Amino acid sequence: MVAVKTDDRPILILGAGINGAALARELILNDFPVCVVDQGDLAGGTTAWSSRLIHGGLRYLEYSEFDLVRESLRERNLLLKLAPQFVRPLRLYVPTSNRFGGLATSLRKFFHFQRKKPSKRDIDRGLWLIRMGLHFYDAYAQDEVDPEQYRWLCSYSDAQIVFPERFVAALLTDAAEEAQRRGISFEMFNYHEARLDGRQVTIRARDNKTPGEEEASTGPVVREFEPVAIVNATGAWVDLTLKRLKIPSRRLMGGTKGSHFVTSHQGLRDALKGQGIYAEAADDRPVFVLPLGKDYTLVGTTDVRYTGNPGKAIPTDEELDYLVDTVNHIVPGTPLTRDDIDFHYAGVRPLPYTDATTTASITRRHWLERADHAEVPTYSVIGGKLTTCRSLAEESAHELAKVLRPDSPYEAKSIDRPIPGGEDYPSNKAELEATWEKLAAESCFDPQQIESMWLLCGTRVRKFLAQDGQLSSELLVGTDLPLDFVRWSIRHEWVRRVDDLVERRLMLLYQPSLSEATLRRLGDLLIEERGISQEEADSQVQATIDRLRDHFGKRLTATAIE
Ligand SMILES: Cc1cc2nc3c(=O)[nH]c(=O)nc-3n(C[C@H](O)[C@H](O)[C@H](O)COP(=O)(O)OP(=O)(O)OC[C@H]3O[C@@H](n4cnc5c(N)ncnc54)[C@H](O)[C@@H]3O)c2cc1C
Repeated sequence: MVAVKTDDRPILILGAGINGAALARELILNDFPVCVVDQGDLAGGTTAWSSRLIHGGLRYLEYSEFDLVRESLRERNLLLKLAPQFVRPLRLYVPTSNRFGGLATSLRKFFHFQRKKPSKRDIDRGLWLIRMGLHFYDAYAQDEVDPEQYRWLCSYSDAQIVFPERFVAALLTDAAEEAQRRGISFEMFNYHEARLDGRQVTIRARDNKTPGEEEASTGPVVREFEPVAIVNATGAWVDLTLKRLKIPSRRLMGGTKGSHFVTSHQGLRDALKGQGIYAEAADDRPVFVLPLGKDYTLVGTTDVRYTGNPGKAIPTDEELDYLVDTVNHIVPGTPLTRDDIDFHYAGVRPLPYTDATTTASITRRHWLERADHAEVPTYSVIGGKLTTCRSLAEESAHELAKVLRPDSPYEAKSIDRPIPGGEDYPSNKAELEATWEKLAAESCFDPQQIESMWLLCGTRVRKFLAQDGQLSSELLVGTDLPLDFVRWSIRHEWVRRVDDLVERRLMLLYQPSLSEATLRRLGDLLIEERGISQEEADSQVQATIDRLRDHFGKRLTATAIE
């Protein structure tokens, strides 16, 4: 392996999804200067369009991916400790109706011997198979923080990350603050693009006039430098990114699309009682029915080959019908219709390219792939789940350190480092509620408003409350969020547009009462805080309304419900 001269040149990370952000933080913790560039917003890719589980991947046992399951369960247990503000235990139930079905299919898969079409009997997973799988799963997950305290037949414990978007913002905040403490450089450019000419990288603002994925932006150049290495952490866009950088490569990615819908159907929520269901649909695909926050249930997912622009993926009518039918099959007492869907989304899995016959059997492992013909050492992140973002970052940083600093020892630095907002976390519900009461008593906000902020940033709320100057008790119309909190987010969390606030910072997409009035208020705040023009704010509000309707199928109320 050729060692590269060590100096203060940054490592360029392309992509600020969960993997790019986790890697940026890990590199900063190892004293590498870092520059992150995302062509869109942070966490604006697949990270926002997943099933939001932090899980071992029970199903991967069927494909003999034991190491992956073990790694995922270890990471799940770590994240429950390091990020309790975002990652919470979730009990899941596996419904089954016969004792032996599915066993034959699974054993065939286990020994890599596939039959083309599963029989009807194979489709039901069967009690014995599930018990066997859960036995392995729990055996792997032995750890003192395993949330499992009791055991029912065909139920198991995993975890949920309600807002991975907030997790990414916290990772990047940690990277930025830690870089400042260490006196090394950390730069973050969202809505920018990087072009490579020899060893020289040029970063330009991405202007809205840029017509397609392939055309170079004509926005102003904000930075030119020679990176010491490039990490292409652009997920489902990995091949497109290499093409844009003009780095020759074989096809690396073969993403599949997965769709979800979100419903506030009360009967379904009542049936779940705060717990999740993991079931198999008629075509052998796993389908999750999961509680999501206070108001919603999340249902997904599908698994279909996809070759288009990952940013444009939306569920088809057929996929939504399939998911609705599956829920009606699993929870027959609560008939759902398409009208019960509040909104929907689809994401493209960053899976390695293969000619596997079934999409479910494509490996969910992750690795770094080095480009053979690049002047600057360039690595692409292949695969990776939300669950394994920390271990992926650790392994990748280690691999980079071996090349860039072969003589310095490498230490894993994130294994016991809380994600900002997870420090000094209350240890149970009573303590949590007492903390909200206490913070409310010490501020001008009530406990419900404290809770709303807490869900977005955990114990970091204290930082917001402790800032200089008088805080106003005025709220963002139609929400429990203080206007000053929105201002704080705009100032500290790389917010540029109205949809950043709606989809990825304040998580208003997940509020049933989101109204056009709320969006207009956000436009006003961006005028005040970022100095954008009234015309620009109006156009961002309209673009957000259009996107909520066309991309998510979300209906807005015209005025706020107070
Ligand atoms: C349907 C579905 C369900 C899933 N469920 C789960 C689950 O329950 N649990 C779990 O652990 N995992 C799950 N996953 C997997 C997980 O969501 C992804 O593996 C993970 O989010 C990938 O993160 P990433 O950072 O690699 O990619 P992304 O989040 O896609 O980030 C890539 C970023 O790169 C940017 N970008 C693209 N091109 C460029 C460029 N040229 N220059 C700069 N930036 C660029 C994009 O804007 C984007 O922000 C699921 C995935 C899907 C699709």
